[in-house]
Amino acid sequence: MPTELCDWVGDMVLIEPLSEDTFIENLKKRFDHNEIYTYIGSVVISMNPYKSLPIYTAEKVEEYRNRNFYELSPHILNIFSFKQDNDQCILITGESGAGKTEASKFVMSYVAAVCGKGQEVNKVKEQLLQSNPVLEAFGNAKTVKNDNSSRFGKYMDIEFDFKGDPLGGVISNYLLEKSRVVKQPRGERNFHIFYQLLSGASDDTLQKLKLDRDFSKYNYLSLDSATVNGLDDAASFRTVRNAMQIVGFMEDEVQSILELVAAVLKLGNIEFKPESRCNGYDESRVKDKNGEYLKEMCELLGIEQSVLERAFSFRTVEAKMEKVSTTLNVAQAYYARDALAKNLYSRLFSWLVNRINESIKVCLSGFSLNLCCFGFSSILLFLQDNSFEQFIINYCNEKLQQIFIELTLREEQEEYVREDIEWTNIEYFNNAIICDLIENNKNGILAMLDEECLRPGTVTDETFLDKLNTMCAEHQHFESRQSKNSKFLTDHSLPHNCFRIQHYAGKVLYRAEGFVDKNNDLLYRDLSQAMYKANHSLIKILFPEGNPAKVNLKRPPTAGFQFRASVGTLMKNLLTKNPNYIRCIKPNDKKAAHIFTDSLVCHQVRYLGLLENVRVRRAGYAFRQAYDPCLERYKMLCKQTWPHWKGPAREGVEVLLTDLQVPAEEFAYGRTKIFIRNPRTLFFLEEKRSQ
Ligand code: ATP
Ligand code: MG
Repeated sequence: MPTELCDWVGDMVLIEPLSEDTFIENLKKRFDHNEIYTYIGSVVISMNPYKSLPIYTAEKVEEYRNRNFYELSPHILNIFSFKQDNDQCILITGESGAGKTEASKFVMSYVAAVCGKGQEVNKVKEQLLQSNPVLEAFGNAKTVKNDNSSRFGKYMDIEFDFKGDPLGGVISNYLLEKSRVVKQPRGERNFHIFYQLLSGASDDTLQKLKLDRDFSKYNYLSLDSATVNGLDDAASFRTVRNAMQIVGFMEDEVQSILELVAAVLKLGNIEFKPESRCNGYDESRVKDKNGEYLKEMCELLGIEQSVLERAFSFRTVEAKMEKVSTTLNVAQAYYARDALAKNLYSRLFSWLVNRINESIKVCLSGFSLNLCCFGFSSILLFLQDNSFEQFIINYCNEKLQQIFIELTLREEQEEYVREDIEWTNIEYFNNAIICDLIENNKNGILAMLDEECLRPGTVTDETFLDKLNTMCAEHQHFESRQSKNSKFLTDHSLPHNCFRIQHYAGKVLYRAEGFVDKNNDLLYRDLSQAMYKANHSLIKILFPEGNPAKVNLKRPPTAGFQFRASVGTLMKNLLTKNPNYIRCIKPNDKKAAHIFTDSLVCHQVRYLGLLENVRVRRAGYAFRQAYDPCLERYKMLCKQTWPHWKGPAREGVEVLLTDLQVPAEEFAYGRTKIFIRNPRTLFFLEEKRSQ
């Protein structure tokens, strides 16, 4: 049944009257009827059903492939049918658990299903699809919000040849949440692979790795939620092993990867005790009872035990061309241990992504069509304890929102130009000043943080915060309300050591604690040198800076700097493409089917700017359609066009609309499409059809 005949609409542009209430009401009615997709023009809104629906079958794919989108209910599969331009990109956004990863997988399977079938093509398709389980095992984890939460941002480019067959792809990853390796919030788990390995590996493999199946033996694995309902870690391990094989990992590579995963677990079990020195300082020593873990870890990675042990008690500092050895106290030793674990794991992850890219990279050259899938892990967090990672993630979301604003409006306006339709620009909220507050090269927050991290002398989170307050807060009074600093909020209710930012989606409180450290992202040189010396093919290449020949290299770029650079590249890339949007919405925070929590949905609708999106769309022409399908659909309403119109479709549509006496200002005739200003006109046509 065409959706517009029900009491809900498939395209929000058609809602009458438009308000937040009617918008949400429409989403809710559709959700109750398992209609989880709704359009705003060419933007697809996707509601997470939290249950599997029979809408992704091979038959469905065929149906959507062959039919005019207007005749079928909205579907994610339609994302490709709106435009046939070359450089497509798909941006998938939404909060944690809203369904971004699932959506990206549907899109990928659709691509795989509809393109060619040759042997070479099938191999590439299979490899592209199988990269998912590998990346999810190493990059996803159970969180409070989502049992399979992606803890990294992913951007994927798939190259197609002129026939539309995929030639290969490139995946980029952004900011793996590496702090999770050493510590997980209450009710959450470490990355899946740790549990999968312990549950699913054969006895033989575990014996070789000297691992125990019991999660509780390992400090880095949280206990309160070690097993997750509905997750079968053992079965997943087999899936992942199989996927690695398909993607093209050699047996010895898989072995090295698992050794590294095992080494991280063992590293976490190394503990330290103080050893008093005559000068009054404490120096850390590995606790005797943990000696076994240290030994096993060193054996696994081919590291000389004494070298690593020493690196947990001393660090070498270079001052004025002189090397000085200083002792580490117990706290510093734990810090060093955790830094090493985080670095081992996050570098392994980046290596995995590169290794997958090597397999799936384009090996032929042809005409190319790009498809880019981007799903960032999670949108704004409104917790009390937002730290550096959330700050960075929110910055990325802020940039994605900026791109959304620029591209949807630009696209809309460009279409009018392309089609020779008169158009006046309209105003919209622009979040550029918030981006500027964060990324401005001179006095943005990231630049200030970098400056602070590189400054000689005592640098702490407090000195950083002082600087922020001085720069942002004090200058506020002299600047206009539209300046970036107006988004740096000051009020007297701020808890100690915190700052607050007015993001596009709402106010977020950040705790400055750890900012300096996390931005510095320091791994003591003694540790990277120990790793570089490892007699282990993989470890060695993960720590190139440990090469003694390179000791005098400049300080590595800070985490913030690197992230800003990669977001910059991503944005530049996206701006050259034709964007397609999938905006994911989570219906409830119970991870449950059939529950629609109005307030939660309303919040997401607001910060995704969906209503604004509809308004922009309606301020111009709410609806547009190519002449051919339009004539096809409505030709029955006019004697002259029924049953066949002989001339060009455009003229047929003109005859039809004149005959129906629709006011001229309701229409604009573009080069290839008819533009309809008011949704009511479309209702009118649809009603006539159904009479
Ligand atoms: P995060 O930001 O935490 O990675 P996400 O947006 O990627 O979250 P998903 O992992 O895609 O969220 O979805 C969370 C869960 O919701 C899935 O594991 C699945 O159970 C369910 N889900 C999402 N989309 C669908 C769908 N279209 N059909 C059925 N179930 C879905
Ligand atoms: Mg995800």
